[in-house]
Parts: sequence; C-alpha cells; structure tokens
Amino acid sequence: MWLLPRTHFPSSSSSSSSGSLCRVLAILSFLLFAVALLATPAAASRGDRLPEFKDCVQGCKEGNCLSEKTPLPLHLRLLLWNCPSECDYACQRSVTASRVGSGQSIEQFHGKWPFKRLWGVQEPFSVLFSILNGHVHYAGLKSLKRELPRSYPLYPYYRLFSIFGMFCWLWSTVFHTRDFVFTERMDYFAAGANVLYGLYLAPIRIFRLYRPTYARILRIWGMVCIAAYAVHLFFLLGVRWDYTYNMTANVVVGSITNILWTYWSIRHYTRLKSFWAAWPGLIVMWLIMAMSLELLDFPPVAGALDAHSLWHAATILPGMWWYRYVATLPLPTALSYVLHFALLSILPSPCPGCHVHYVRPC
Ligand SMILES: [Zn+2]
Repeated sequence: MWLLPRTHFPSSSSSSSSGSLCRVLAILSFLLFAVALLATPAAASRGDRLPEFKDCVQGCKEGNCLSEKTPLPLHLRLLLWNCPSECDYACQRSVTASRVGSGQSIEQFHGKWPFKRLWGVQEPFSVLFSILNGHVHYAGLKSLKRELPRSYPLYPYYRLFSIFGMFCWLWSTVFHTRDFVFTERMDYFAAGANVLYGLYLAPIRIFRLYRPTYARILRIWGMVCIAAYAVHLFFLLGVRWDYTYNMTANVVVGSITNILWTYWSIRHYTRLKSFWAAWPGLIVMWLIMAMSLELLDFPPVAGALDAHSLWHAATILPGMWWYRYVATLPLPTALSYVLHFALLSILPSPCPGCHVHYVRPC
C-alpha cells in the first residue's frame, strides 16, 4: 500500500513612470503570450519511459484521481498542481529515490532533472536566482533614474535595457516556478528578446549611433533587430521548435555583443589606462565563463542545485557590475545579496519526503 492515508491530506474546504513601465511590460507580455499559445508540448525523456515510473503514475492516478479525488493543499492548487501532475511529481521522486538507493543513475523526466520542489515551486534555486537577477535590473533602473539626467542621450536605451531585463527574469521566475509548455515558451522568447536587445544596444553605445548624424543608420539597425526577432519567432513557432537552434541563436547573438564590448574595452583601456574602461570587457568575460555552466548537465545536487540554477546565480553579480558602470548602483543593494546567500546557507533543508503528497518517500 503506497498511498498515504486520507487523514494526511488537508481538508478540501480548507507613479506615472512606473505606469509606463507596467504598460511596456504588459505589451511585451501580451505579444509573446499570443505567440506562445501556438506552442506544442515538450519531448519525452528516458525517465518517462521507465516501466516503474509508468506503473507508479498509473497506480497513483487510479488511487487518487478518479471518482473520489484526493484534495491537494491550497498552496499547491494555487500553483496549478492537480491530481495527475501531483502523481507525476510524486512518482518522479519515488522512482529517483529507489534508483539512487540501488546505485542506479538519476534519469531526466519530461526533459528535466527530477527536482525537489519547495512549497510547490518546482526549481526553488532557479526561482530565487531569477528573482535576484530581476531585482538587479529593478534596482538598476532606479539608479539610472537617480543618477542620469533625462537629457543624457543613452538614458532611454539603458532604461529599455532594464525593462527587457526585468521582463526576461520575470518569465524565468514564472517558468522555474511551474514548468508548462506555455511558461517555457515565454521564458525562451523573453530571454531571446533580452539577448537581442543587448546586441541592439552595444553598437549604439560603442559607435555612438545615438548621435543625430547617425539617425538613419540607427533606424535601419533597429529594423534589422526587429526583423531578426520576428524571423526567430516564426522559425520556432511556424517551422520547428528546436532547442539546439534556440540555444545556438542566443549564443551567436550574445557572442557578437561580447566581442563588441571587448573591442570597446581594449580600445578605451589602451587609450585611457583607466581600470573602469576595462569593466565591460571583464563583465562579458565573466558572462562567458558563467555561460559555460550551461554546458554542464549534471543531476541536481541535493535534488535542487543544478548547472542551470548556477548559471542564473552567476549572472547576478555581472548585472550589478554593469549598473555600477553605467550609473551607480548603491552598495547596500550589493550587501543585501550577500545577506541573501548567507541566510540561504544556514536555512535547514526540508524534511526528507515531506514535499511528497501522494507517494510515500522511499
Ligand atoms: Zn532558466
């Protein structure tokens, strides 16, 4: 008997600038929402095909999801967990625990490692780091408003950089909280838009395309970037959803941006001999090293910390550094992240198996 007694379940009865910012985020969300609705489901993994996993899911659904449904706690229902998805999660944990216990490898399920969720959040570390990344852009936007005069020609471009950053990390947070086809597509589209905006911005700053004499070139450059993004979306949604292509496109665009900033840093450092001139180059070097974490694909340490979440962790400090470069991100914000990490390391881990509602922990 592997179903938990029914008594273990809870009862089923149980400002103007910020306005414009919201409008921009809402428009971006709406546009990507519309295209993400065209998405198709993700591919299966080896774990999904394991007989013990299939048997577990079938037995769990028959025992909990048919005529007399076992109620889920409110916080899980709020995060859109339902009986079949709860069975799927519980069986992933159960099968993984028994495989680890018998010295077998940990397998992926539905294209992802079997993470231990926290309060219904599927990938707690990726969510935490996404929120911190988003906060860096939010704090950065505030520092831009405080430090830069509105007449500064790059101000609107930097401001939009912050908005794209917040938009990107908002959807990263949503996706890592609950992985649906829709949230995955939104995460990918928002990340793609963010990376492409980085490429759009680099020559504007480096070659001073914001000057009135370059107005025509700037318009053409803007149209090229918008067209590239439209083609990117069309390919992913209209031709083929291809993870490798998506990753390659982002890496290529990001690499061109990195080369531009490295060129800028070398040129300015050689001329000025001032350390700050090397900052953009050092920031992109950090990002390149952090990106290599994405190439590592190991099972999550303690069921929670994987290479992808470490990649998200690794982008927090370069983000703060960037805003310190273009404006002055105040130090207390930096210190608050150190405190976050210190707290995280002393927090007790959840009790073994207490995250599982339908299947007894092994
Ligand atoms: Zn992510």
